[in-house]
Amino acid sequence: KVSAQEVHKSFGDTHVLKGIDLEVRRGEVSCLLGPSGSGKSTFLRCINHLESIDSGRIEVDGTLIGYREHGERLHELKPAEAAAQRENIGMVFQRFNLFPHMTALENITCAPVFVKRAQRSEARQRAIELLERVGLADKADAYPRELSGGQQQRVAIARALAMTPDLMLFDEPTSALDPELVGEVLDVMKSLAESGMTMIVVTHEMGFAREVADTVTFMDGGVVVEHGTPEEVLVRPQHGRTKAFLSKVL
Ligand code: ATP
Ligand code: MG
Repeated sequence: KVSAQEVHKSFGDTHVLKGIDLEVRRGEVSCLLGPSGSGKSTFLRCINHLESIDSGRIEVDGTLIGYREHGERLHELKPAEAAAQRENIGMVFQRFNLFPHMTALENITCAPVFVKRAQRSEARQRAIELLERVGLADKADAYPRELSGGQQQRVAIARALAMTPDLMLFDEPTSALDPELVGEVLDVMKSLAESGMTMIVVTHEMGFAREVADTVTFMDGGVVVEHGTPEEVLVRPQHGRTKAFLSKVL
């Protein structure tokens, strides 16, 4: 379960998040959409404490993210403590950031072996299972440059899953892909959703949001404008800003 309350974040004079509230129950898929610059990526980055927040709080499964409570005050965690929290939160970005000098299999085993101190043979076995799961069993020894964008993105998902996260964050995972490669990545995400993973997905893939999301949140200008079921937000939006946005992306 993810719970964000009144999250504020500024970069210098730019007030980017102006009191974001969001609840995502365990096993649910939440899609975030909104115009460029509305703060979607910043919010995702706050959830795994890649960015600090100025006020408010974010909890994942009851654990306060990024801070330790001391009476009324919150103290930022040390980098190593924040990194430990982050191990349970997988993130997939728009640009597949696989390590270019490592094979698909090595990309997937790297964090379990070096961060979680997993046995190399076990990590390898699990990586092979994960590659099967994302439909790339035959690409274990391929380097990223030998893979299509869609294949690289599926390896990136497998790599995130190798840390057995409780929560997966996706930041426009298909928007850098050629159109014909989008479906294969969305299919992997859909099957991950069906397996019960809690997911927050920034996407403009309306078909995916309609079909897979439990809730849809429309953000604009650093606030949540509208939140509800896909039906409520995408089919019968109440707010002018949501309607205007949807008429552009649909
Ligand atoms: P897009 O759809 O284009 O990805 P977004 O909704 O993800 O947009 P963000 O990337 O969260 O938007 O950016 C929100 C605002 O915060 C923008 O005005 C951006 O310039 C600003 N911003 C983001 N990161 C930083 C940073 N590290 N330093 C300064 N400003 C930043
Ligand atoms: Mg973004």
